[in-house]
Order: sequence, then C-alpha cells, then structure tokens
Amino acid sequence: MSHPATVLIVGAGPTGLSMALNLKRYQIPFRIIDAQMKPVPTSNALAVQSRTLEVWDDMGLIQEALRRGVKINELKMYDHDKNIVSIDLNTLDSAYPFVLGLAQHETEKMFLDALSQENITVEMPVELIDFSEQQENIRVQLRHADGREETIYVDWLIAADSGHSFVRKKLNLAFKGRELPQHFVLADFILEKNIAAHKAMLFLSQSLLALFHYAENEVRLIADVSMDPELKSAKTLTDEQIFRLIKERCPFPLTIQKILWTSGFWIHERLISQYAHNRIFFAGDAAHLHSPVGGLGMNTGIQDAYNLAWKLALVIRGRAKKSLLSTYNSERHTVGKKLLRGTGILTTIMTLHNVFWRRLRNFLYSWIFKYKNNQKRMAMTISQLTITYEKSLLTHNGGMRMPYVGVLHQQLFEQVRGTQFCLLLFSGKNNSLTEIQKLKNQIEQKYVDVIKCVLITTKNTLIENWKGRSVYDNNGRIHQYYRMHKSGFCLLRPDKYIGFIGKLSEADALLDYLNEFLKD
Ligand SMILES: Cc1cc2nc3c(=O)[nH]c(=O)nc-3n(C[C@H](O)[C@H](O)[C@H](O)COP(=O)(O)OP(=O)(O)OC[C@H]3O[C@@H](n4cnc5c(N)ncnc54)[C@H](O)[C@@H]3O)c2cc1C
Repeated sequence: MSHPATVLIVGAGPTGLSMALNLKRYQIPFRIIDAQMKPVPTSNALAVQSRTLEVWDDMGLIQEALRRGVKINELKMYDHDKNIVSIDLNTLDSAYPFVLGLAQHETEKMFLDALSQENITVEMPVELIDFSEQQENIRVQLRHADGREETIYVDWLIAADSGHSFVRKKLNLAFKGRELPQHFVLADFILEKNIAAHKAMLFLSQSLLALFHYAENEVRLIADVSMDPELKSAKTLTDEQIFRLIKERCPFPLTIQKILWTSGFWIHERLISQYAHNRIFFAGDAAHLHSPVGGLGMNTGIQDAYNLAWKLALVIRGRAKKSLLSTYNSERHTVGKKLLRGTGILTTIMTLHNVFWRRLRNFLYSWIFKYKNNQKRMAMTISQLTITYEKSLLTHNGGMRMPYVGVLHQQLFEQVRGTQFCLLLFSGKNNSLTEIQKLKNQIEQKYVDVIKCVLITTKNTLIENWKGRSVYDNNGRIHQYYRMHKSGFCLLRPDKYIGFIGKLSEADALLDYLNEFLKD
C-alpha cells in the first residue's frame, strides 16, 4: 500500500536525516528511505563544526549532541616535537566555540532517536530503483527487503543518496572534478593514556599524520601514505603498520589499548552541475565530494538540508512563490564550489612531499599563525561561520549569518529560534515606537504566520509599552553588532542568515522585497 507523502527523501545518511528532521519542524509530510540499515557501523565523519552546532541549537538537538560528543578546544601543529601552531577555538564568535568530536554513527543515531520521538520511521532497507518526472509530480518505484515493488507519486524528491547518487546518474547530470593523487589511511583506536585530550594534533615533520578525539578515549588517526612504499595503496592496516606510522611521525608516546577500525581511501573532488532539477533537489555527498581535510563534508550536507527545508516548506504550504526554490541552487552551489577549492588547496599544502617545500611551509605557518587574528581567521573559516550568501538574489544588504553578540546572545536567540523569519526592530536612540509599531502592523497584517517581530531596545521604558517579543539591549551591544546607530530593522531568514538590513525609512523596500518571494 502506498502512503501519501509530499516529499520523498532518498538516503538516510546525515543529510537525508537532517532534511527529515527539518521538514518535520515545518509539519510537511514526507517519507524517508534507505537501501541500507542505519546508522552506519563505522565512525566516518567525526568533526562537527561550530556552524552545524548553531544549526542543531535551532533544531533542538544541541544538548543531546553535547552529551554524546567531546569538545575540541584547540588545534595544534607540530614540526617534530616543536609546537609551531596553536589555534585556540575558544576565540570563535559563536555560542559554540569548539569543534565537537562525534562519530558519524552517533550523529546518525541522535537523528534517528529524534525522528522516532516524533513517531517517524526511516524505511530501511527500501531502495529507490526508478523514477520518472511528470508534469506535476514524480513517479517513483521502490523495492522493499522482501523483493516487493511499490509505485508512489510524490511532489518533490530529495536526493541525499551518496556520492554514487542513482538519481544524479539517471538524470545524467554532470559531476565534474578530479581524483586527488594522495592516498590516505585512517585508524580508530582506544588510547590507554589520554595524552591528547580535547585537542586535534597535526604532525608535519614528514608526510601528514593527524590525531583527532571523537570520544573521551577514542582517537582517529589519519595519515597521508602516498610516499610510503608499503602503504601507498593499502585498504586496511595491520597493528604493526599503525605502530610504525605513529613511531615514525608522532614524537609523543601513545599507548594504544585496542584498534577499532582501519581503512584506506583516495579522495574524489567533484561537484554536481546543478543542485536542483525541476522537482528534484540534491544535497550532501550526492552534490559534492571533496577532501576530508578540515572535516567539512558531513557538515556541508547538514547545512544544505537546513538551507533547502524552509524554502521547500514555504512553497509547499503555499506561502512562497516557486521562484524561491531557485535560490537553493544559487546559494549552495556557490558554497560547494568554494568548499572544493578550499579543501583542495588545503590538502595540497598539508601533504607536501618535497622536503624543501615542507620546511618552508612549516616556517611560514609558525610565522603566520603566531598572530592571533590569523589564527582566528583560520578558525572562523574552518568552522564554517564565515559562509555568506552575499550575492544571493535573496540578499538585500546582508547575507552573513546572524552575528554572535556575546553575553546577550542566548537571550536574543531564544526569541529568534524556530521556523519563522524574524524581523528584529531596533529602536536606536528613539523614544517613540510609532514608526516601529507601524512596520510591525504591516508585517503582521500579511505575514503573521511566517514572520515574527522582536523589538531590540536600550530603553526599558519602551518595553513596558510594547505588546510582543522584546530584548532589552542594556549596554547597546546588540545595536553595535548589527551596526544600528539609528532605528532600523534586520530580517533574519528561518536559517538565521540576514536577508535584509536597513533603516526604518526603508520599510517600503522591505515590503517590496518580501512581496518578491512570499505570497500574501
Ligand atoms: C572513511 C570516511 C571518513 C570520513 N571522514 C569525514 C570527516 O572526518 N569529516 C567529514 O565531514 N566527512 C567525512 N566523511 C564524509 C562523510 O561521511 C560524508 O560527507 C557524509 O556521510 C555524507 O552524508 P550524506 O547523507 O550526504 O551521504 P551518505 O552518508 O553517503 O548517505 C547516503 C545514503 O543514501 C543511501 N542510498 C544510496 N542510494 C540509494 C537508493 N537508490 N535508495 C535508497 N537509499 C539509497 C545509502 O545507503 C546511504 O545510507 C568521511 C567518509 C568516510 C567514508
């Protein structure tokens, strides 16, 4: 029997599961299938970046994630036993100034638990075996574990079906790129002595070797073995080979209690030509594959889903025009392109094989990163806090994510959190709220279910007369962060990116802007 579903999510990896949880937040009916049983048995992706943690805060997952993972506060690089770079992640401008070490099977389990609390089951093993696009919907054929085939019709299809994406191949969409020449190996193990608690360590005196905690006593080793005659095409590692790599490249004694998993891998660097094809959207590895240096693959897939879900939900609910959906491709394809370029360059730099270039790199690193602002810039980039949609058609004088405002952040975020747009109304030095109230009324008249308004004011007396949400900006810090010297507004999209920032005198332009993509 076919169940009614507006959306079919193909693939229950981190991307598909994120999409499911987000659609649930918007009460959109969907089905989610996976050809394999989930969660994955292996640790795979283990670095959860600050930006993803902010997304999880909005989705109500953050406490559970923090409970399951370990905080990595510092990234250290060594040339032999000399510490040449220390990047202090506490300096990140975020409520979550660290990388969370969390094995992918734990992340998937967290998502699955959250879905099951909502009485949503991931159907597995159920495979998408064929589909055809019709005028108004998509005809889809599924195969169940017992061999039974099922035909359903859905309005939208989300292809989160891995780097091998069946959907992408069937649509013949280009997935251009290259194979990187480096060969890597990884090993997960339990440490007897926790010498590297809460740090990520990179050893750069020879070919790259990195150690990264993803649980209290569990550590991932990644090493570039392209120049190692014995390991240059290894698919697994023996215990002796792991001990040898550590002895050769890590100057600190490590006592390994148990080796849990080893694997070898080459890196594919590929980007799909377009993230959307009529009623079909691509997200995660189905759209982009790249080097794991920086730990960004899974994070980017989760953020793809976060970008797409609110747009699709508004269109399905009849509150936005279909044209809104085109911004998913323009915004996330740009992010994907930059991601491939950045991780490709970083991989080349981190895996230099020539001794001269390696020494020069290490020297330059120690010089560049002795400056705190360079450390911070690097940390902000890797943590994906600097991703912007500045050139998007949806951006009018904005495009960056909601800034972190220090001590008042949590108070402000409590008001902003959720699935709606949020119009922050700044009183500036004004003693009257007449103009602000007028804009609030105009917005609520048309979009009360889609946009909420929050007054930000430095004057307690104004709050007393305000009917609605407000934040008391006692020292003017929020005004400063939003560069509001006078009264004005800032429209935050449901994914907490700034869509429009302006003065109160630009209220009509804001209404025109909303009219461009929202329906009355
Ligand atoms: C060894 C290893 C180490 C990694 N390390 C890191 C890291 O440190 N940091 C990082 O960010 N990333 C890392 N990655 C990458 C990360 O795991 C991926 O980016 C992430 O899993 C992508 O998630 P996804 O949901 O897009 O795709 P996937 O996790 O690949 O999930 C796709 C799902 O789709 C299902 N599927 C496919 N075809 C069909 C079909 N026809 N019908 C139904 N279901 C289908 C598959 O069974 C699969 O479960 C690593 C990956 C590996 C393998």
